[in-house]
Amino acid sequence: MTEHDRPLRFAVVGAGMAGLLSAIKLREAGCTDVTIYEKADRIGGTWRENTYPGLSCDVPSHLYSYSFELNPDWSHQFSPGAEIQAYFEHVVEKYDLAPLIRFSEDVTSLAWADGRWHLDTAAGHHDEADVVIAATGVLRVPRYPDIEGIDTFAGACFHSARWDHAVPLAGRRVGIIGTGSTAVQIVSAIVGEVGHLDLFQRTPQWVLQQPNPAYDEPTRADYRAHPEKLEALHKGLSQLFAEGFANAIVDADSPQVQGIQAACLANLENNVKDPELRERLRPTYRAACKRLIVSPDFYEAIQQPNASLVTDPIVAVEPGGVRTADGTLHELDVLVLATGFRADAFMRPMQIIGRGGVTLETAWTPRPEAYLSISIPDFPNLFMLNGPNGPVGNFSLIEVAELQFGYILQLVDQLRSGACREISARADVLAVFEAEREEAARHTVWVTGCQSWYLDDRGIPAVWPFTFDRFRAEMAAPDLDAYERA
Ligand code: NAP
Repeated sequence: MTEHDRPLRFAVVGAGMAGLLSAIKLREAGCTDVTIYEKADRIGGTWRENTYPGLSCDVPSHLYSYSFELNPDWSHQFSPGAEIQAYFEHVVEKYDLAPLIRFSEDVTSLAWADGRWHLDTAAGHHDEADVVIAATGVLRVPRYPDIEGIDTFAGACFHSARWDHAVPLAGRRVGIIGTGSTAVQIVSAIVGEVGHLDLFQRTPQWVLQQPNPAYDEPTRADYRAHPEKLEALHKGLSQLFAEGFANAIVDADSPQVQGIQAACLANLENNVKDPELRERLRPTYRAACKRLIVSPDFYEAIQQPNASLVTDPIVAVEPGGVRTADGTLHELDVLVLATGFRADAFMRPMQIIGRGGVTLETAWTPRPEAYLSISIPDFPNLFMLNGPNGPVGNFSLIEVAELQFGYILQLVDQLRSGACREISARADVLAVFEAEREEAARHTVWVTGCQSWYLDDRGIPAVWPFTFDRFRAEMAAPDLDAYERA
């Protein structure tokens, strides 16, 4: 920041992983006029909202950490959700972010007028900012299944992201709808406690068996004493993920994808004893087509004597339980909806009005688009972290957000230096980018014969379809010609 820089006011929406990152990086860059708006009364985003039993991050903890705040004390290779929440709370304290955060302030509208964003919250607070950072998260809005009679269920029924901890599970009959990453973690965690568990599977999943060893105290002490070892570990994992997974996943026939397929198949063949159950668990599409399930022990859990895999389609929910197409009523005390999220919500339902009165709803009809998932034409000085069509899935979204924020800061520099007062992606550049993105997306493993939350309404993956190396290269420096500057 130089004395000639134009002072800018920043509003960051969301005090989750990406919002906290934004505030830290803005302050580091000398931008101190920052307010973070948080709808809840605590920080944490997805790690605050999700508290279901077995919650953990299936990206290694030493990778799922800010690169500038590595944690020598992670308990496990894949640490539990509560520990991740505690890590972000520690970050807030260490970086003294609490004074920047306005809690219980749900931003309901943003309007661009007179060269600034006018922001309003549900609680009636009004603010104006030169720049808005939308750090509202990806999988935030629960998707409830449209099943006949679901409201008539007499027991407790809740979505996995709205876990009701007041409901006892011990010895009770629990049903779980869904077989995504969430359901798989819940099954392993609760099968030993419940009386009976019914897992309602609509589509089988490929499961990669991945042990989850604990870090012992000598290892953690070694990381504390040698931060350079921790840095090397973080770098090594990042490289391993990029080369072994993120670069390869976009090529359905890459040796890495074939290796993943072979490992998942071996897990199924070796670890499910009953041939009939094994066939019901066998997917008919390719591994990594849906987001890959990573679990140390899902097959072991579903083979417990008190667990049943229900594959007959659900026809209705009744007061007593779930009725399947074969006529059986699966009697339940508790029904968990591990049915996923509306992946296309992003900042919505916030009302956002850009330049010339254009609404985000209009700009995002028929579907959300953003240049490099960061900037939307006619929405100047509004930048998204983990926005539409970015790298999501089996990725460290922290690494993605850090790369994106490095890019955003360079756009912000244009505003600070006075080179321009408004900056947003050019509509023609976005159209060319989207055409190339869609074409590449049609050749990825995500379109090899499965349904998933990656796919848009046309069945085209709404994610980054290029290599992670290309993502890194794009994020290194913006091509300013791609931007309309005024
Ligand atoms: P999901 O992957 O979208 O899975 C939803 C599940 O619900 C699917 O099995 C789906 O079946 C089923 N389902 C939905 N509606 C249904 C209906 N009406 N009847 C029967 N079944 C229905 O959701 P998720 O498991 O919550 O995971 C979402 C994402 O969150 C993950 O892909 C991942 O990105 C993230 N996540 C990450 C971690 C982690 O450790 N990092 C952990 C949990 C979640 P179909 O397959 O047939 O559609």
